[in-house]
Amino acid sequence: MTNRFEVVHPSEAECADSVICRRLTHPLLLPDNLIDLCSKCGEAIQHRPDGPKTPPKICDQCAGPIMEAEAAKGELVTMVTPKTAVELVEWFRKKTAN
Ligand SMILES: [Zn+2]
Repeated sequence: MTNRFEVVHPSEAECADSVICRRLTHPLLLPDNLIDLCSKCGEAIQHRPDGPKTPPKICDQCAGPIMEAEAAKGELVTMVTPKTAVELVEWFRKKTAN
């Protein structure tokens, strides 16, 4: 198996092991982000309102070691939905424009 990055239909994203979320920031990274708690450490996190509902949401700091271990085994599968991919591109454009 090899590490993969996939753009998937939102229904496929519901089958993910977890949704990686950024920890809470002030202001929020996107103004309509929702606030929740990391299911692993309990820290406040933020996530998109239309993100997958089924997988547990974990913060980026909890996800880091898990992702590194999976990547080392060649088993890391990173998925984003088409809408998230567009939002990420827009966010990076704004961030690099300043
Ligand atoms: Zn966490």
